[in-house]
Amino acid sequence: MGMVDAEAIVKELRETYSSGKTKKYEWRVSQLKALLKIAENHEKEIVDALYSDLSKPELESFIHEISMVKTSCKHALKGLKQWMKPEKAKATITSFPSSAEIVPEPLGVVLVISAWNYPFLLSLDPVIGAIAAGNAVVLKPSEIAPATSSVLAKLLGQYVDVTAIRVVEGAVPETTALLEQKWDKIFYTGNGKIGRIVLAAATKHLTPVVLELGGKSPVVVDSNINFKVAVRRIISGKWGCNNGQACVAPDYIITAKDNVPKLLDSMKHELEKFYGKDPLNSGDLSRIVNANHFRRLSNLLDDTKVIDKVVHGGQRDENNLKIAPTILLDVPHDSLIMKEEIFGPLLPIITVNKVEDSIHFINAREKPLAAYLFTSNKKLEEEFVMNISAGGLVINDVTLHVANSSLPFGGVGESGMGSYHGRFSFDTFSHKKAVLHRNFSGDAPQRYPPYTPSKARFL
Ligand code: NAD
Repeated sequence: MGMVDAEAIVKELRETYSSGKTKKYEWRVSQLKALLKIAENHEKEIVDALYSDLSKPELESFIHEISMVKTSCKHALKGLKQWMKPEKAKATITSFPSSAEIVPEPLGVVLVISAWNYPFLLSLDPVIGAIAAGNAVVLKPSEIAPATSSVLAKLLGQYVDVTAIRVVEGAVPETTALLEQKWDKIFYTGNGKIGRIVLAAATKHLTPVVLELGGKSPVVVDSNINFKVAVRRIISGKWGCNNGQACVAPDYIITAKDNVPKLLDSMKHELEKFYGKDPLNSGDLSRIVNANHFRRLSNLLDDTKVIDKVVHGGQRDENNLKIAPTILLDVPHDSLIMKEEIFGPLLPIITVNKVEDSIHFINAREKPLAAYLFTSNKKLEEEFVMNISAGGLVINDVTLHVANSSLPFGGVGESGMGSYHGRFSFDTFSHKKAVLHRNFSGDAPQRYPPYTPSKARFL
């Protein structure tokens, strides 16, 4: 696809948007129902595509992608009427008599650029918000998950109103052509380097941008906890989420030195229970998405600063792009693995003298997308909530905040800007229009010239 096509698509969608069709409640409902049908009627096709792209285990595909999309659609269908209602605002004495309201209106024609790791969910979830809010939308799925990209293009082509909702498949040239167009919002999921390219392109047209990025999400582990439950939850949020290739997956653990033996024993024990003695052949772990990412992760492991720090796992199978759950202990803070987001099955443990020191450790680095704490100490919990700046926090579990549609999901600082999920998705793709209603009474003469001294007395 060249630039001309991108231009033509945006032109066509803008015409549809201008016709007022997408603003209608009935249209929004019909399109949300169409997306729900895609998730309901094509489970097998979607699971197969995710398996082809990532060897994603069926249960993970179902729970983390298909079911999440269904829930989002149902939530939007249920809330939509209420969300679309103008909200009464207080009238003030300055404009007496008057009434005031906040009217949500769609932004127009929006672009959603999505990532490869949850390619079905991360494509459709923002689209659900864009449609609920009454926009026309172009979805650009990730080329790194080609099977899912092609299933999305096919199914959306069959189910939705293509005069207003379009899938454009492609990689850098296609995305670049899309980014040259004028959009009313760009919603981007991916890494911060490309996020900067998106933001720069948006500047030209003064287009608002949501950047759903990543970061190094820490897990702080205290000593006064139920180790078995904590460790099982950490494992499920790390290796049970696409083998660590998840934006909110635990990136590293911080714990006090004397806590390490117990934590490590428990992790090794539970990992073997979950994935067996030969995790490279476990059917319950996704593979690494492609050779580039396999090499990137291998470089993190082969760094001379950390090569002797592996205390569990470390096995790799380059032909099948598999890496076993791998734990590293006491890696130097200036090693590559502690500088970059890991986004894979490697999990370093950083030790501190006392668990409270972890707050300083986290705050001395870029703001992560998520931060987690396992503790029974209420004071530490409070300190963590008040002092850690991250997209979201979970206490005594990991990643689950993503599945709560009453919570906004998004980053802060290096982990992104803007948020979505549930009602927040509707708000993200809406403009809150301020409307003041008056009639012809209450026409105070003081506001009009000539500004005589007697009028000024009223001020
Ligand atoms: P990716 O490689 O799929 O890239 C994301 C999108 O950017 C793709 O659609 C791709 O086509 C496009 N792109 C790539 N190069 C481009 C360029 N030069 N110009 C314009 N567009 C371009 O995904 P990724 O970046 O590898 O994703 C992983 C990152 O995303 C991690 O940092 C992860 O934490 C983050 N992530 C965040 C969330 C979230 O919701 N916050 C979710 C998933 C992933």
